[in-house]
Amino acid sequence: MVRSVSILGATGSIGQSTIDLIARDLPSYDVHALTGGRNVAQLAHDAIALNADVAVTCFDECYQDLKDHLSATSITVQSGAAAIAEVGMRQTDWVMSGIIGSAGLVPGMEVLKRGGTLALANKETLVTAGPLVMEEARRSGATLLPVDSEHSAVFQALVGEDMAAVERVIITASGGAFRDWPIADLPKATLAQASSHPNWDMGQRITIDSASMFNKALELIETKEFFGVDPAQIETIIHPESMIHALVGFNDGALMAHVGPPDMRHAIGYALNWPERKTLPVERLDLAKLGQLTFRAPDDARYPALALARRVMEQGGLTGAAFNAAKERALDHFIAGDLRFTDMARVVEAVLDNMSSRDGLENATMTLDTVLEIDHLARIRADEAVLALNTKDA
Ligand code: NAD
Ligand code: MG
Repeated sequence: MVRSVSILGATGSIGQSTIDLIARDLPSYDVHALTGGRNVAQLAHDAIALNADVAVTCFDECYQDLKDHLSATSITVQSGAAAIAEVGMRQTDWVMSGIIGSAGLVPGMEVLKRGGTLALANKETLVTAGPLVMEEARRSGATLLPVDSEHSAVFQALVGEDMAAVERVIITASGGAFRDWPIADLPKATLAQASSHPNWDMGQRITIDSASMFNKALELIETKEFFGVDPAQIETIIHPESMIHALVGFNDGALMAHVGPPDMRHAIGYALNWPERKTLPVERLDLAKLGQLTFRAPDDARYPALALARRVMEQGGLTGAAFNAAKERALDHFIAGDLRFTDMARVVEAVLDNMSSRDGLENATMTLDTVLEIDHLARIRADEAVLALNTKDA
Protein backbone atom coordinates (compact mmCIF):
# COMPACT_ATOMS: atom_id res chain seq x y z
CA MET A 1 0.00 0.00 0.00
CA VAL A 2 1.37 3.42 -0.98
CA ARG A 3 1.06 5.99 1.82
CA SER A 4 0.86 9.73 1.31
CA VAL A 5 3.19 11.73 3.53
CA SER A 6 4.21 15.34 4.16
CA ILE A 7 7.25 16.59 6.04
CA LEU A 8 7.06 19.90 7.90
CA GLY A 9 10.58 21.19 8.50
CA ALA A 10 12.01 18.90 5.81
CA THR A 11 15.33 20.78 5.57
CA GLY A 12 16.13 20.44 9.28
CA SER A 13 17.87 17.70 11.17
CA ILE A 14 14.68 15.72 11.87
CA GLY A 15 13.38 16.41 8.35
CA GLN A 16 16.56 15.15 6.71
CA SER A 17 16.55 11.96 8.78
CA THR A 18 12.91 11.42 7.82
CA ILE A 19 13.79 11.92 4.16
CA ASP A 20 16.66 9.45 4.52
CA LEU A 21 14.21 6.75 5.65
CA ILE A 22 11.58 7.54 3.03
CA ALA A 23 14.12 7.72 0.19
CA ARG A 24 15.27 4.17 0.98
CA ASP A 25 11.79 2.87 0.12
CA LEU A 26 10.41 5.55 -2.17
CA PRO A 27 7.90 3.37 -4.09
CA SER A 28 6.01 2.86 -0.81
CA TYR A 29 5.38 6.58 -0.41
CA ASP A 30 3.54 9.30 -2.24
CA VAL A 31 5.27 12.46 -1.00
CA HIS A 32 2.80 15.34 -0.97
CA ALA A 33 4.57 18.35 0.56
CA LEU A 34 7.97 19.34 1.92
CA THR A 35 8.38 22.57 3.87
CA GLY A 36 11.49 24.50 4.86
CA GLY A 37 12.93 27.94 5.42
CA ARG A 38 15.93 29.69 3.88
CA ASN A 39 17.65 26.53 2.71
CA VAL A 40 15.89 26.73 -0.64
CA ALA A 41 18.46 24.70 -2.62
CA GLN A 42 18.09 21.75 -0.22
CA LEU A 43 14.31 22.02 -0.25
CA ALA A 44 14.18 22.10 -4.04
CA HIS A 45 16.66 19.22 -4.32
CA ASP A 46 14.63 17.02 -1.98
CA ALA A 47 11.29 17.97 -3.56
CA ILE A 48 12.65 16.80 -6.92
CA ALA A 49 14.31 13.67 -5.52
CA LEU A 50 11.14 12.60 -3.70
CA ASN A 51 8.84 13.73 -6.52
CA ALA A 52 6.79 15.93 -4.16
CA ASP A 53 3.66 17.76 -5.30
CA VAL A 54 4.32 20.90 -3.26
CA ALA A 55 7.33 22.73 -1.80
CA VAL A 56 6.77 25.50 0.74
CA THR A 57 9.20 27.94 2.33
CA CYS A 58 8.02 29.71 5.47
CA PHE A 59 9.63 32.95 4.26
CA ASP A 60 7.84 34.99 1.59
CA GLU A 61 11.13 36.58 0.59
CA CYS A 62 12.42 33.11 -0.39
CA TYR A 63 9.47 32.35 -2.66
CA GLN A 64 11.05 33.53 -5.93
CA ASP A 65 14.31 31.74 -5.25
CA LEU A 66 12.46 28.47 -4.60
CA LYS A 67 10.30 29.05 -7.67
CA ASP A 68 13.45 29.54 -9.79
CA HIS A 69 15.00 26.34 -8.44
CA LEU A 70 11.85 24.41 -9.40
CA SER A 71 11.03 26.18 -12.68
CA ALA A 72 11.74 23.09 -14.80
CA THR A 73 9.34 20.96 -12.74
CA SER A 74 5.58 20.79 -12.15
CA ILE A 75 6.06 21.09 -8.37
CA THR A 76 3.77 23.73 -6.85
CA VAL A 77 5.68 26.42 -4.96
CA GLN A 78 4.21 28.31 -2.01
CA SER A 79 5.43 30.47 0.86
CA GLY A 80 4.37 31.74 4.27
CA ALA A 81 2.95 30.39 7.51
CA ALA A 82 -0.57 30.02 6.10
CA ALA A 83 0.70 27.82 3.25
CA ILE A 84 2.45 25.59 5.79
CA ALA A 85 -0.75 25.33 7.84
CA GLU A 86 -2.57 24.35 4.62
CA VAL A 87 -0.17 21.43 4.18
CA GLY A 88 -1.46 20.18 7.53
CA MET A 89 -5.06 20.52 6.38
CA ARG A 90 -4.68 18.40 3.26
CA GLN A 91 -5.57 14.72 3.44
CA THR A 92 -2.33 12.79 3.77
CA ASP A 93 -1.82 9.54 5.68
CA TRP A 94 1.17 10.69 7.75
CA VAL A 95 2.72 14.05 8.59
CA MET A 96 6.08 14.67 10.25
CA SER A 97 6.08 17.73 12.50
CA GLY A 98 9.77 18.63 12.30
CA ILE A 99 9.58 22.42 12.50
CA ILE A 100 11.59 24.01 15.32
CA GLY A 101 9.86 26.27 17.84
CA SER A 102 6.26 27.23 18.48
CA ALA A 103 5.81 27.79 14.72
CA GLY A 104 5.10 24.04 14.64
CA LEU A 105 1.92 24.37 16.70
CA VAL A 106 -0.58 25.65 14.13
CA PRO A 107 0.27 23.30 11.24
CA GLY A 108 0.33 20.33 13.62
CA MET A 109 -3.08 21.30 15.01
CA GLU A 110 -4.46 21.28 11.48
CA VAL A 111 -3.44 17.64 11.12
CA LEU A 112 -5.10 16.79 14.43
CA LYS A 113 -8.29 18.71 13.59
CA ARG A 114 -8.88 16.55 10.53
CA GLY A 115 -8.16 13.34 12.49
CA GLY A 116 -4.86 12.65 10.71
CA THR A 117 -1.67 10.99 11.91
CA LEU A 118 0.97 13.36 13.30
CA ALA A 119 4.50 12.22 14.08
CA LEU A 120 5.52 14.82 16.64
CA ALA A 121 9.17 15.81 16.84
CA ASN A 122 8.13 19.42 17.56
CA LYS A 123 8.02 19.26 21.36
CA GLU A 124 6.96 22.91 21.53
CA THR A 125 3.48 21.81 20.37
CA LEU A 126 2.89 20.04 23.69
CA VAL A 127 4.84 22.51 25.83
CA THR A 128 2.82 25.49 24.64
CA ALA A 129 -0.62 23.92 24.27
CA GLY A 130 -0.56 20.35 25.66
CA PRO A 131 -4.11 20.12 27.03
CA LEU A 132 -5.56 21.69 23.87
CA VAL A 133 -3.56 19.42 21.58
CA MET A 134 -4.44 16.22 23.44
CA GLU A 135 -8.12 17.21 23.63
CA GLU A 136 -8.21 17.91 19.89
CA ALA A 137 -6.63 14.54 19.13
CA ARG A 138 -9.22 12.79 21.33
CA ARG A 139 -12.12 14.69 19.78
CA SER A 140 -11.11 14.03 16.18
CA GLY A 141 -9.70 10.54 16.67
CA ALA A 142 -6.30 11.68 15.37
CA THR A 143 -3.17 9.62 15.99
CA LEU A 144 -0.35 11.41 17.75
CA LEU A 145 2.99 9.59 17.74
CA PRO A 146 5.96 10.85 19.77
CA VAL A 147 9.24 11.28 17.92
CA ASP A 148 11.41 12.85 20.60
CA SER A 149 13.70 9.90 21.42
CA GLU A 150 12.81 9.87 25.12
CA HIS A 151 9.08 9.95 24.45
CA SER A 152 9.29 7.34 21.73
CA ALA A 153 11.15 5.20 24.28
CA VAL A 154 8.43 5.66 26.92
CA PHE A 155 5.73 5.04 24.31
CA GLN A 156 7.41 1.76 23.32
CA ALA A 157 7.89 0.69 26.97
CA LEU A 158 4.15 1.21 27.52
CA VAL A 159 2.92 -1.02 24.68
CA GLY A 160 0.41 -3.46 26.18
CA GLU A 161 0.71 -1.91 29.67
CA ASP A 162 -1.92 -0.38 31.92
CA MET A 163 -1.14 3.26 32.78
CA ALA A 164 -2.55 2.60 36.26
CA ALA A 165 0.47 0.33 36.89
CA VAL A 166 2.99 3.06 36.03
CA GLU A 167 4.77 4.50 39.07
CA ARG A 168 7.34 6.69 37.40
CA VAL A 169 8.81 7.78 34.11
CA ILE A 170 12.55 8.42 33.99
CA ILE A 171 13.81 10.68 31.21
CA THR A 172 17.53 10.41 30.59
CA ALA A 173 19.74 13.38 29.68
CA SER A 174 23.24 13.40 28.27
CA GLY A 175 24.05 16.47 30.34
CA GLY A 176 25.04 18.36 27.21
CA ALA A 177 28.27 20.07 26.27
CA PHE A 178 29.00 21.49 29.74
CA ARG A 179 28.17 18.61 32.05
CA ASP A 180 31.77 18.37 33.29
CA TRP A 181 32.65 22.07 33.30
CA PRO A 182 33.21 23.88 36.59
CA ILE A 183 29.94 25.75 37.23
CA ALA A 184 31.90 28.99 37.71
CA ASP A 185 33.03 28.82 34.05
CA LEU A 186 29.51 28.52 32.57
CA PRO A 187 28.92 32.28 32.17
CA LYS A 188 31.88 32.32 29.77
CA ALA A 189 30.54 29.52 27.56
CA THR A 190 30.69 30.56 23.91
CA LEU A 191 28.23 29.88 21.09
CA ALA A 192 30.66 27.47 19.41
CA GLN A 193 31.16 25.53 22.65
CA ALA A 194 27.41 25.33 23.32
CA SER A 195 26.73 24.22 19.74
CA SER A 196 28.61 20.94 19.95
CA HIS A 197 26.82 17.96 21.47
CA PRO A 198 28.79 15.04 22.96
CA ASN A 199 26.52 12.32 21.44
CA TRP A 200 23.71 13.56 19.21
CA ASP A 201 23.98 15.29 15.85
CA MET A 202 21.04 17.74 15.89
CA GLY A 203 20.01 21.22 14.80
CA GLN A 204 21.94 24.09 16.43
CA ARG A 205 19.07 25.39 18.58
CA ILE A 206 18.25 22.06 20.24
CA THR A 207 21.97 21.41 20.72
CA ILE A 208 22.36 24.64 22.72
CA ASP A 209 19.16 23.76 24.59
CA SER A 210 20.82 20.45 25.50
CA ALA A 211 23.81 22.26 26.98
CA SER A 212 21.53 24.48 29.09
CA MET A 213 19.10 21.57 29.70
CA PHE A 214 16.25 23.72 28.45
CA ASN A 215 15.73 20.84 26.04
CA LYS A 216 15.24 18.45 28.98
CA ALA A 217 12.98 21.02 30.64
CA LEU A 218 10.78 21.05 27.53
CA GLU A 219 10.82 17.25 27.52
CA LEU A 220 9.66 16.97 31.14
CA ILE A 221 6.65 19.13 30.28
CA GLU A 222 6.14 17.13 27.07
CA THR A 223 6.11 13.92 29.17
CA LYS A 224 3.43 15.26 31.50
CA GLU A 225 1.23 16.39 28.63
CA PHE A 226 1.63 13.39 26.34
CA PHE A 227 1.37 10.58 28.89
CA GLY A 228 -0.89 12.36 31.39
CA VAL A 229 1.37 11.47 34.33
CA ASP A 230 1.69 13.55 37.47
CA PRO A 231 4.82 15.77 37.57
CA ALA A 232 5.86 13.99 40.79
CA GLN A 233 6.12 10.76 38.76
CA ILE A 234 8.59 12.25 36.28
CA GLU A 235 12.32 12.00 36.99
CA THR A 236 15.48 13.01 35.13
CA ILE A 237 18.82 11.27 35.30
CA ILE A 238 22.11 12.21 33.67
CA HIS A 239 23.28 9.35 31.49
CA PRO A 240 26.37 10.56 29.59
CA GLU A 241 26.42 7.70 27.04
CA SER A 242 22.91 8.46 25.66
CA MET A 243 22.16 4.78 25.05
CA ILE A 244 19.16 4.45 27.36
CA HIS A 245 16.59 6.95 26.15
CA ALA A 246 14.02 6.58 28.92
CA LEU A 247 12.76 4.10 31.51
CA VAL A 248 9.30 3.34 32.82
CA GLY A 249 8.93 2.09 36.40
CA PHE A 250 5.93 -0.10 37.24
CA ASN A 251 4.17 -0.86 40.53
CA ASP A 252 5.84 -4.26 40.80
CA GLY A 253 9.27 -2.61 40.83
CA ALA A 254 10.14 -3.47 37.21
CA LEU A 255 11.97 -0.86 35.17
CA MET A 256 11.57 -1.13 31.40
CA ALA A 257 14.41 0.63 29.61
CA HIS A 258 14.67 1.49 25.94
CA VAL A 259 18.25 1.03 24.75
CA GLY A 260 19.69 1.99 21.39
CA PRO A 261 22.33 4.11 19.69
CA PRO A 262 21.74 7.88 19.62
CA ASP A 263 20.24 7.99 16.11
CA MET A 264 16.93 9.79 15.57
CA ARG A 265 16.14 7.49 12.68
CA HIS A 266 15.03 4.91 15.23
CA ALA A 267 12.30 7.10 16.78
CA ILE A 268 11.33 8.55 13.39
CA GLY A 269 11.20 5.08 11.82
CA TYR A 270 9.14 3.72 14.71
CA ALA A 271 6.58 6.49 14.17
CA LEU A 272 6.69 5.97 10.39
CA ASN A 273 6.05 2.22 10.61
CA TRP A 274 3.81 2.19 13.70
CA PRO A 275 2.08 0.01 14.77
CA GLU A 276 4.46 -2.36 13.00
CA ARG A 277 8.19 -2.63 13.44
CA LYS A 278 10.25 -2.73 10.27
CA THR A 279 13.98 -3.09 9.68
CA LEU A 280 15.76 0.23 10.22
CA PRO A 281 19.27 1.29 9.18
CA VAL A 282 20.47 2.01 12.72
CA GLU A 283 23.60 0.59 14.32
CA ARG A 284 23.11 -2.60 16.35
CA LEU A 285 24.65 -2.19 19.79
CA ASP A 286 27.55 -4.37 20.84
CA LEU A 287 27.04 -4.39 24.61
CA ALA A 288 30.40 -6.00 25.39
CA LYS A 289 32.13 -3.27 23.41
CA LEU A 290 30.04 -0.64 25.17
CA GLY A 291 31.25 -2.10 28.49
CA GLN A 292 29.34 0.12 30.88
CA LEU A 293 26.55 2.63 31.14
CA THR A 294 26.75 5.29 33.83
CA PHE A 295 24.27 7.53 35.63
CA ARG A 296 24.37 10.53 37.94
CA ALA A 297 21.87 12.84 39.56
CA PRO A 298 21.32 16.18 37.80
CA ASP A 299 22.74 19.19 39.59
CA ASP A 300 20.16 21.95 40.06
CA ALA A 301 22.80 24.69 40.27
CA ARG A 302 24.24 23.66 36.91
CA TYR A 303 20.83 23.27 35.28
CA PRO A 304 18.36 25.91 36.54
CA ALA A 305 16.09 25.08 33.57
CA LEU A 306 14.95 21.91 35.34
CA ALA A 307 13.49 23.80 38.30
CA LEU A 308 11.78 26.17 35.86
CA ALA A 309 10.16 23.16 34.16
CA ARG A 310 8.83 22.00 37.54
CA ARG A 311 7.37 25.45 38.06
CA VAL A 312 5.71 25.39 34.64
CA MET A 313 4.14 22.00 35.34
CA GLU A 314 2.85 23.22 38.73
CA GLN A 315 1.45 26.51 37.45
CA GLY A 316 -0.12 25.03 34.32
CA GLY A 317 -2.46 27.08 32.13
CA LEU A 318 -0.53 29.28 29.73
CA THR A 319 2.72 29.10 31.68
CA GLY A 320 4.18 26.62 29.18
CA ALA A 321 3.50 28.97 26.27
CA ALA A 322 5.25 31.85 28.07
CA PHE A 323 8.12 29.61 29.16
CA ASN A 324 8.79 28.31 25.66
CA ALA A 325 8.56 31.70 23.95
CA ALA A 326 10.83 33.34 26.54
CA LYS A 327 13.29 30.49 26.09
CA GLU A 328 13.20 30.87 22.29
CA ARG A 329 13.94 34.60 22.57
CA ALA A 330 16.67 34.13 25.17
CA LEU A 331 18.25 31.61 22.82
CA ASP A 332 18.00 34.08 19.91
CA HIS A 333 19.87 36.61 22.07
CA PHE A 334 22.53 34.10 23.09
CA ILE A 335 23.06 33.14 19.43
CA ALA A 336 23.24 36.84 18.48
CA GLY A 337 25.93 37.30 21.11
CA ASP A 338 24.09 39.71 23.38
CA LEU A 339 23.24 37.37 26.24
CA ARG A 340 25.51 35.19 28.34
CA PHE A 341 24.85 31.45 28.41
CA THR A 342 23.80 31.45 32.07
CA ASP A 343 21.58 34.50 31.61
CA MET A 344 19.15 32.58 29.41
CA ALA A 345 17.62 30.97 32.51
CA ARG A 346 17.56 34.33 34.31
CA VAL A 347 15.62 35.86 31.43
CA VAL A 348 13.11 33.02 31.32
CA GLU A 349 12.60 33.21 35.09
CA ALA A 350 12.11 36.98 34.95
CA VAL A 351 9.47 36.57 32.22
CA LEU A 352 7.62 33.92 34.22
CA ASP A 353 7.71 36.10 37.36
CA ASN A 354 6.51 39.12 35.46
CA MET A 355 3.80 37.42 33.43
CA SER A 356 2.48 35.19 36.20
CA SER A 357 1.51 38.21 38.25
CA ARG A 358 0.57 40.58 35.42
CA ASP A 359 -1.07 38.28 32.93
CA GLY A 360 -2.45 35.54 35.19
CA LEU A 361 -0.86 32.71 33.24
CA GLU A 362 -2.10 30.00 35.60
CA ASN A 363 -5.78 30.80 35.39
CA ALA A 364 -6.09 31.94 31.78
CA THR A 365 -8.33 29.97 29.42
CA MET A 366 -6.37 27.99 26.87
CA THR A 367 -7.42 28.41 23.26
CA LEU A 368 -5.19 28.49 20.21
CA ASP A 369 -5.61 32.29 20.18
CA THR A 370 -4.65 32.80 23.83
CA VAL A 371 -1.62 30.53 23.41
CA LEU A 372 -0.45 32.55 20.40
CA GLU A 373 -1.09 35.83 22.24
CA ILE A 374 0.99 34.73 25.21
CA ASP A 375 3.68 33.42 22.85
CA HIS A 376 3.84 36.88 21.27
CA LEU A 377 3.77 38.75 24.57
CA ALA A 378 6.42 36.57 26.23
CA ARG A 379 8.84 37.33 23.40
CA ILE A 380 8.42 41.07 24.04
CA ARG A 381 8.85 40.55 27.78
CA ALA A 382 11.97 38.46 27.14
CA ASP A 383 13.48 41.25 25.03
CA GLU A 384 12.74 43.67 27.88
CA ALA A 385 14.33 41.30 30.40
CA VAL A 386 17.47 40.99 28.25
CA LEU A 387 17.72 44.76 28.06
CA ALA A 388 17.21 45.16 31.82
CA LEU A 389 19.82 42.51 32.58
CA ASN A 390 22.40 43.94 30.20
CA THR A 391 21.81 47.48 31.52
CA LYS A 392 22.21 46.29 35.11
CA ASP A 393 25.35 44.30 34.36
CA ALA A 394 26.91 46.97 32.13
P1 NAD B 1 16.39 22.33 12.65
O1 NAD B 1 16.69 23.71 13.08
O2 NAD B 1 17.47 21.46 12.18
O3 NAD B 1 15.25 22.37 11.50
C1 NAD B 1 14.09 23.12 11.68
C2 NAD B 1 13.20 23.08 10.47
O4 NAD B 1 12.07 23.94 10.71
C3 NAD B 1 13.85 23.57 9.18
O5 NAD B 1 13.31 22.87 8.09
C4 NAD B 1 13.42 25.03 9.11
O6 NAD B 1 13.40 25.55 7.81
C5 NAD B 1 12.03 24.96 9.68
N1 NAD B 1 11.61 26.20 10.32
C6 NAD B 1 12.35 26.99 11.15
N2 NAD B 1 11.61 28.04 11.56
C7 NAD B 1 10.39 27.91 10.97
C8 NAD B 1 9.20 28.69 10.99
N3 NAD B 1 9.12 29.83 11.70
N4 NAD B 1 8.14 28.25 10.28
C9 NAD B 1 8.20 27.11 9.56
N5 NAD B 1 9.31 26.34 9.49
C10 NAD B 1 10.39 26.73 10.19
O7 NAD B 1 15.60 21.66 13.89
P2 NAD B 1 15.64 20.13 14.35
O8 NAD B 1 16.84 19.93 15.20
O9 NAD B 1 15.37 19.22 13.21
O10 NAD B 1 14.39 20.10 15.35
C11 NAD B 1 13.06 20.11 14.89
C12 NAD B 1 12.13 19.78 16.05
O11 NAD B 1 12.37 18.45 16.49
C13 NAD B 1 12.35 20.66 17.28
O12 NAD B 1 11.13 20.87 17.93
C14 NAD B 1 13.25 19.81 18.16
O13 NAD B 1 13.12 20.09 19.53
C15 NAD B 1 12.73 18.42 17.86
N6 NAD B 1 13.70 17.35 18.06
C16 NAD B 1 14.85 17.33 17.32
C17 NAD B 1 15.77 16.32 17.49
C18 NAD B 1 17.02 16.25 16.64
O14 NAD B 1 17.73 15.26 16.69
N7 NAD B 1 17.34 17.26 15.85
C19 NAD B 1 15.54 15.32 18.44
C20 NAD B 1 14.35 15.35 19.17
C21 NAD B 1 13.44 16.38 18.96
MG1 MG C 1 14.86 14.32 23.15
